[in-house]
Amino acid sequence: MQIGKNKVVQIHYTLTDDDGEVIDSSEGGEPLEYLHGAGGIIPGLEEALEGKSTGDHIQVHVEPEDGYGDQDDDLLHEVERSQFDAVDELELGMQFQVDTDDGPMVVTVVEITDETVTVDGNHELAGVALNFDVTVGEIRNATKEEIDHGHAHGEGCHEH
Ligand code: ZN
Repeated sequence: MQIGKNKVVQIHYTLTDDDGEVIDSSEGGEPLEYLHGAGGIIPGLEEALEGKSTGDHIQVHVEPEDGYGDQDDDLLHEVERSQFDAVDELELGMQFQVDTDDGPMVVTVVEITDETVTVDGNHELAGVALNFDVTVGEIRNATKEEIDHGHAHGEGCHEH
């Protein structure tokens, strides 16, 4: 079976940046399972996997525009420090979920002064070129329910 639209695919992967630093890996754990053609993984990787079969091994270099996008300065926001009064020890790198006009968004604290806090809503991998080393695992047809939901359903409990 080949990877194509409406196939559920398992992949074993290691993700590194251009310095060879490992960002993420499925090694030693469960493979990642996704529904192909549903935008569940980044476009550059999904495209490279199209037509591949179980056991195939690919290496893909994905530029930011086909990955998590470029850094967007519009997603930097300066807010009153008093808005964080409820946080015991505010530190750089802390992440919070905030409600925006576009729905919930995770922001990271990137600057703290006496009066203000700057938060960054960019994905932590925005602007980063990604190198995937992928081995294709099992491939199966998606169920009707999975296609309706637009994502793969793993084994065990599924609550929605
Ligand atoms: Zn579902």
